[in-house]
Amino acid sequence: MAEVLVVVEASPSGVKKVTLEMLTLARSLGLGDVAAVVLGGEGAAAGVVDKLGEYGAAKVYAAESAELTEYLVAPKATVLANLITQVSPAAVLLPSSQEGKEIAGRVAVKLDNGLLTDVVAVEADGTATQVVFAGSTIVKSKVTKGLPIVTVRPNSLTPAPSPVTPVVEPVAVSVEKRDLLAKIVERKVEAKGARPELAEASVVVSGGRGVGSADNFKLVEELADLLGGAVGASRAAVDSGFYPHQFQVGQTGKTVSPQLYVALGISGAIQHRAGMQTSKTIVAVNKDAEAPIFELADFGVVGDLFKVVPQAAEEIRKR
Ligand code: FAD
Repeated sequence: MAEVLVVVEASPSGVKKVTLEMLTLARSLGLGDVAAVVLGGEGAAAGVVDKLGEYGAAKVYAAESAELTEYLVAPKATVLANLITQVSPAAVLLPSSQEGKEIAGRVAVKLDNGLLTDVVAVEADGTATQVVFAGSTIVKSKVTKGLPIVTVRPNSLTPAPSPVTPVVEPVAVSVEKRDLLAKIVERKVEAKGARPELAEASVVVSGGRGVGSADNFKLVEELADLLGGAVGASRAAVDSGFYPHQFQVGQTGKTVSPQLYVALGISGAIQHRAGMQTSKTIVAVNKDAEAPIFELADFGVVGDLFKVVPQAAEEIRKR
């Protein structure tokens, strides 16, 4: 029986949540065993095997070589394309991250195969659901040539464990000369604060232009910390210099899907919604009762955030 391959995305702190979501999705397809593919440096698989097994990866293909970390994505695409040719999987899932999409695109070209990106659901027959045009349109599509190669949007589903003990199978890394044309010369890892990672947080408190200044964002941070959440920002807040770009939520920022999303002084433009509209519960504070964010919010407070947020914080502190 063919396998479903899941390309692992990990950070120095471990396997990313999107990987666990993909493993869960891969199992739900019922097409065959789920196999994870680690494309990293020497020893990369050892640190993640247990976690991958916990979420149902019966096999872990370990492609480990300095070339996979020292160069841009081209070597990873070559190794993955070779593996696909070798094992003929039923489907391949990659994260819809910048890197995941680039690897997927290159693999699809190498194999002359169809490709679907930004997918939020896949059915056993390969029919995928895609969210397009800033989240305003849902499309069902299918690869018509080759196997389904699909990039999965983070936070599309809830990861569910299904423990197995994975077999680790080393994969020969054989890259082409043209894969080594661009080398990474410096890598800066942002200092990790005490807050959870934005894309993976179960609570996100975001501020918009209505927050008014970088200094006022302390109010947003304070509420986020009380709720154990991450801080997000609208593009207007980022463009105004109130908060760094890495925290932007929306079409040109991060996609989040927390249990609770709190929007403070955010109007609710379609491009912002694109990054947060699948949040389970949305709370908005806006002084304009006509703000479009209220069409989306489960709970809305029409009022001045500088009055509402301190009161909410005070109540939370009492509990
Ligand atoms: P505004 O629209 O100015 O809204 C500020 C809100 O704050 C208003 O509703 C106001 O009533 C309220 N307010 C003001 N003062 C207070 C107060 N004291 N108390 C309570 N409420 C108050 N935007 C994103 O966010 N993310 C993206 O990724 C993104 N990508 C884009 C991509 C493209 C191609 C384009 C064209 C646009 C994109 N945008 C994106 C921009 C988007 O169109 C909006 O301009 C932006 O989201 C507006 O941000 P905002 O809601 O913070 O600001």
